[in-house]
Amino acid sequence: MSDTSHILDRTTFERWDTCPFMAWAIETGLVVDESDPSTTGIIAHAGLAEAVNEFYHTGTFTDVTVMDACLGGLPPHLGEAAWHNIRRDLWSIREELHTLNRNSILRYQGGDKKRGMSGQLGVELGGAVVATSEIDLLTAGTTKEELQETDWKTGRTEWTTTKIKQSFQFRFHAWLVFHNYEGCEKLQVRVWMHQLRKLTLWVTFLREDFIAGKEKNSANRASFEYYLHGIAQLRHRVMNGEKPPTFPEEVRCGWCRAIRICPRARWPARNVAKNPKRFAEDLIARIEKLKKERAALNVHVKANGPVDLGDGRSYGEKPPSTRQTFGYLGGDR
Ligand code: SF4
Repeated sequence: MSDTSHILDRTTFERWDTCPFMAWAIETGLVVDESDPSTTGIIAHAGLAEAVNEFYHTGTFTDVTVMDACLGGLPPHLGEAAWHNIRRDLWSIREELHTLNRNSILRYQGGDKKRGMSGQLGVELGGAVVATSEIDLLTAGTTKEELQETDWKTGRTEWTTTKIKQSFQFRFHAWLVFHNYEGCEKLQVRVWMHQLRKLTLWVTFLREDFIAGKEKNSANRASFEYYLHGIAQLRHRVMNGEKPPTFPEEVRCGWCRAIRICPRARWPARNVAKNPKRFAEDLIARIEKLKKERAALNVHVKANGPVDLGDGRSYGEKPPSTRQTFGYLGGDR
């Protein structure tokens, strides 16, 4: 890896894949990405890494009271609920780790870099770009050709095998693992959802779907790698002045951090007949922007009461009911 390499992590690739305008706005500091992992998530992951580290070196864990004492050092502002969640994460991972053979551990988050145990994997993608990501736990599989990844999720999102298979994160990890382990033909991935106390089944990723073979016509087989190349090249051009493309779509726009400044929502097409596709796409971004603005106003109303519109009307006040009532229904005969 040269000094001039650009190290791009998985989150960066994923953002550019989701919508280049949003990724560009975040990278240039025009908007803040509030979706970065929460403090509790970071602390929980660090605690989980520590638990794996201890298990790897000693085959066991520290005493319950010692662990609780460590957790007692959490920032007070996180509150009792966060403390409880992190504690629960740590205890469930301890249970899970006891089912493992510690000699099967190959890499883990926070593992010793010098001994090649770090969960951080990288691949030189070309164009002075190094693609990286950190794997929570990588272990040997049931055969020489198989490796297994276990990922901890500290939130309350439910993960399924279908979601794992389609996830950018795990496809990216599979690609990194196949590049770093030449003999590995199959990566099995599972997700451990601590808060929900659930573990998914293993999901299989095959080398042939990620790494180009020597045989002819291997272009399709390496499509994920070409795809990453494309993302890295697009990012390079945009960061050097090219206009960032926009990809309006309900889910993307719904959680987009840059929607406030998105050109599709700010300067939408006005003439549907001229360009219906453009009009429809812009409308998607506008609707999602309006939903966010309405939600913000509703929060304000909830905290401060209705907003006086100055002409006798107010926003956020329930209009009087227009439903007709009949005295006899209330027993008033
Ligand atoms: S609102 Fe939609 S189109 Fe606009 S930047 Fe965000 S994701 Fe992209």
